[in-house]
Amino acid sequence: MWYHSTRNSVPMVDSAQAVLQGLAPDGGLYVMTKMPAFDVEACLKKDMLGQMEQILAAFLPDVGEMAPLVQAAYTDKFDTDEITPTCQVGDMTVLELFHGPTQAFKDVALSMLPYLMTAAKTKEKQTEDILILTATSGDTGKAALCGFQDVPGMKICVFYPEGGVSPIQRAQMVTQEGKNVKVCGVEGNFDDAQSGVKEIFSRYRDDAFRKKRGMGLSSANSINIGRLVPQIAYYFKAYSDLLQRGKIVMGQEVNFTVPTGNFGDILAGYLAKKMGLPVGKLICASNENCVLTDFLQTGVYDKRREFHKTISPSMDILVSSNLERLLYFATDGDCMQVREWMESLQKNGIYTVSQEIMTRIQEDFDCGCCSETEIKETIGSVFQTYGYTMDTHTAVAWKVAEEYRKRTEDNRPMVVLSTASPFKFPEAVLSALGVEPQGDAFQQMRLLSEKTGLPVPRPLAELEGKLCRHGDCVRKEEMEQFVLQIFSE
Ligand SMILES: *Cc1c(COP(=O)(O)O)cnc(C)c1O
Repeated sequence: MWYHSTRNSVPMVDSAQAVLQGLAPDGGLYVMTKMPAFDVEACLKKDMLGQMEQILAAFLPDVGEMAPLVQAAYTDKFDTDEITPTCQVGDMTVLELFHGPTQAFKDVALSMLPYLMTAAKTKEKQTEDILILTATSGDTGKAALCGFQDVPGMKICVFYPEGGVSPIQRAQMVTQEGKNVKVCGVEGNFDDAQSGVKEIFSRYRDDAFRKKRGMGLSSANSINIGRLVPQIAYYFKAYSDLLQRGKIVMGQEVNFTVPTGNFGDILAGYLAKKMGLPVGKLICASNENCVLTDFLQTGVYDKRREFHKTISPSMDILVSSNLERLLYFATDGDCMQVREWMESLQKNGIYTVSQEIMTRIQEDFDCGCCSETEIKETIGSVFQTYGYTMDTHTAVAWKVAEEYRKRTEDNRPMVVLSTASPFKFPEAVLSALGVEPQGDAFQQMRLLSEKTGLPVPRPLAELEGKLCRHGDCVRKEEMEQFVLQIFSE
């Protein structure tokens, strides 16, 4: 299976190289030259890990035999064998993606990625170490650290926006153990951290980093195709759950609402649809950083706007990397056009997509955004009505899904993706439930447990009192220096 950059159809690399490199040398994202042949009905008959295996094998055939990798990646890492269970809440189906080691959906793909990379490295006979550079809006960081901790031949450095993540998210990262890990704050927001990482990548194309440090560079963000492909599996899982419960018959279309930031989670749903899964609309849900809502409605992507720090921090993003892949597919692979738009975004902070292309995109996508007040109201009312506790990101999706139904009267079954445990954001969730969020984050988690009857996830409770191992914070301009200095011993 061949991959090339969204911005240029040459050179082509195989799927193992695409995983190893993360970002294409010209700054674009790797895309497949064609969709793989895929037996959807056979896949829907399997359990989650069987589905994962079939999907990975279809997209990443050059990496190697998938069954042992999938077993190694998921056995005993999630608190349920289903990996990503669904539950019925009112007339919505909630797809819970937070049962992994760090209580966010990023665990699904980041449990797998280190195994994919290690296998790809062996396959490509790459002997030098790989440094994984990652920017995080809060959840990718811990999930990647957890996945790559002490993996031989790999080192990982995570940059997070200082002050831009929840106290629990920060505690998860700065207490991370492991000989091959580094964590560093960046003064600024997620976009600063992400563009800083992308700049380091672009400066070190032509293998300069390799020469300078004797290490390869790669990414654990959803710009890496190896991050994106495992996420397709849970769309199949949700669909087969609905089949099993008799909520749908084979072939009936289902809508998905996805709380979106970097557009990676929802893009996996789009790929599932392109593979033939009966997906109706993919509804892109944003918080007050509603750059994607504006784009999907008007065709104008304009990042020149105020950045809002919200109670759903993992979605506080103004430059959504994976939208570039959607633009590639929606233009039938017009790399020149995609490159023009991306250059315009870089230079002017804005680009405009033609009405014709937008009409195509709107066939698959709908959208909506949710204010801070609405997030809290939604958490409160869903808890009151159904006794179900949602985190702030899931609440964005729930609200947007409800609004979509009212607006369109589209009554196809709706799956709401739930991306994090409410215990990662205890202050906001408590106040939404009408409880004064007293004390520190750990005290708040205990209060949340009392209020909801849910246990505090053990890995979060165990953070209390743990040693802070990573106290660094740099300016964006200092990120490269930081990367060059660390791991040099
Ligand atoms: C990362 C994240 C999102 C956004 O996912 P994208 O793939 O970046 O669109 C939503 N919710 C939570 C909890 C996340 O961690």
